Amino acid sequence: MPKHILSGLNYLAAITLRREGYLQKDIAKWLGMDRSTVSHYINGRNISLDSIETAETISKFCPHDFLQMTNVLTKDTGKTRIIVKTLMKRKFNPKIKDSCIGCGLCVDTCLMKAAELNNLKAQIDSNWCCGCRMCESRCPTNSIEILEV
Ligand code: SF4
Ligand code: SF4
Repeated sequence: MPKHILSGLNYLAAITLRREGYLQKDIAKWLGMDRSTVSHYINGRNISLDSIETAETISKFCPHDFLQMTNVLTKDTGKTRIIVKTLMKRKFNPKIKDSCIGCGLCVDTCLMKAAELNNLKAQIDSNWCCGCRMCESRCPTNSIEILEV
């Protein structure tokens, strides 16, 4: 996959995190970059307009495709979840029904690490859920409902 698309995603995530008040050293750590690259991005250097436009287009794909494409590009789920959480504009409110049997398939499926088991029932952290709905489609008891806010 082209490196320039990943550069565009890194750029968009870095400048968004900086605007949200995060320190350059933390942004560098979360995105797996050195601080000088983050500094270049924040100052608008070392990045092409094409890369930014392509990354912006990808970030507007449906949540499933945005997540999957980002993960293919980064090859690193930790980095993927930071980029997707930072750039995802939509908000989701996941609900777990009483029919959950605690099988854990949703936990294993969730690339955003938003799902966990608590007392043999699934729980989903809406702060990290990007609405990809992969857990919904894997759940054997149809116990997950991902509602857009
Ligand atoms: S996949 Fe469905 S049944 Fe299994 S833990 Fe998740 S919500 Fe519960
Ligand atoms: S929709 Fe499900 S799989 Fe996707 S991020 Fe939310 S909890 Fe994880």
